[in-house]
Amino acid sequence: MRTWTKDQLALRDGMERVCRDLAVGEHDAAGSGFPWDAWKSLRASGIMSLPFDPAWGGAGADLPTTMYVLEALGKGCRDGGLSFSVATTLCSTGVLLQHFGTEAQKDRYLTRLCAGELIGAHAISEPDTGSDALSMRTTAVRDGDHFVLNGSKSFVSNGPIADVVVVYARTRPEGGPLGITAFLVDTQTPGFTAGQPIKKMGLTSSPMSELFLDDCRVPADRVIGGVGRGYLLLEHVMTHEILCSFIINVGEMQHRFERCLEYARIRTQFGKPIGSYQAISHKLVDMRIRLETARRWLYDTAERLVAGQNVTMDVAISKLLTSEANVASGLAAIQIFGGNGYMSEYGLDRELADAVGSTIYSGTTEIQYNRISSLLGL
Ligand SMILES: Cc1cc2nc3c(=O)[nH]c(=O)nc-3n(C[C@H](O)[C@H](O)[C@H](O)COP(=O)(O)OP(=O)(O)OC[C@H]3O[C@@H](n4cnc5c(N)ncnc54)[C@H](O)[C@@H]3O)c2cc1C
Repeated sequence: MRTWTKDQLALRDGMERVCRDLAVGEHDAAGSGFPWDAWKSLRASGIMSLPFDPAWGGAGADLPTTMYVLEALGKGCRDGGLSFSVATTLCSTGVLLQHFGTEAQKDRYLTRLCAGELIGAHAISEPDTGSDALSMRTTAVRDGDHFVLNGSKSFVSNGPIADVVVVYARTRPEGGPLGITAFLVDTQTPGFTAGQPIKKMGLTSSPMSELFLDDCRVPADRVIGGVGRGYLLLEHVMTHEILCSFIINVGEMQHRFERCLEYARIRTQFGKPIGSYQAISHKLVDMRIRLETARRWLYDTAERLVAGQNVTMDVAISKLLTSEANVASGLAAIQIFGGNGYMSEYGLDRELADAVGSTIYSGTTEIQYNRISSLLGL
């Protein structure tokens, strides 16, 4: 069992308090857009500055501490879309800038990301290249002190509300991982257009859209990490996205588990609490085991990463098992609640829909299986 310091516990308590006062829920249910008021409360809590360098307004928390606070967000915030948008901004742009950004890029963007003044996104997927992301076709061609970007991107979380998007584009036409470069693109840049928000089955308050780049001129000093290094940046971002986004899912699973445990104690059928029937109690045991396994894998992987170890396999396993545990827990919760579980009033339908998304973004379950099997030499 992991032990947390007094400071870490205080940070987590603070996030739990913020979440208790967040006005969310109805927003997500109605699918009526991004919950700006709740976002303002979260930015005021300082969560957007947590893992970043104090020189740029960050709180300087290490990765496990950041995850511990994000887990509290998942447990306390009943709007999965909002939490997802928070994690997307933190990882897509903030984490990338912190590690690979120049001083000038950090001055321009990281300080404002830390203050919660900017919303970030990243654009990797395209209509014809999803899992096979490295075959992307969006091009970036050097023209003097600019690059000219052309192409389109699909499924961009935060796309309709982002101020800055990290666009991955091909700087070498012949293909291969070394032909990809990451660009920081202000969404006000001429030639950059976000499509209409896309309706989706879950995470409804986290807006998503396509992005179109039509002779979009981006200054060359907005290249992050160097030309042709986009592949390395993607690896870094995906590792952090999986650890930070999926620990939020663990918080959500913890909350769901506690609700189900309570319901199994108070709901009586045939004169006894339903939790006294093995069919129900075993579901709760499975929920607990999956939740604890996911939590341990995520924190252990984070600690190994911080210690400088190779975590490629661990990240894939953590992602695969947390997302699948999340779906299994969402289905079990609906079954434990019976007819009530199927009614939108209880919110378990939304939680299941959110959970299904987690088996697709950050690399699908099938792709994680492929990664693990190839690392096993198969
Ligand atoms: C909620 C959500 C948020 C997202 N946010 C973003 C974002 O912010 N930015 C962004 O760029 N993208 C984002 N995406 C896109 C996401 O990364 C892609 O949907 C994902 O990588 C899968 O690509 P695809 O949809 O094109 O499916 P495809 O790659 O077409 O796959 C279709 C099916 O085939 C399977 N498959 C494909 N190749 C193989 C293989 N080699 N072996 C076995 N099975 C295979 C897949 O697992 C899947 O089941 C988001 C997606 C969702 C659902």
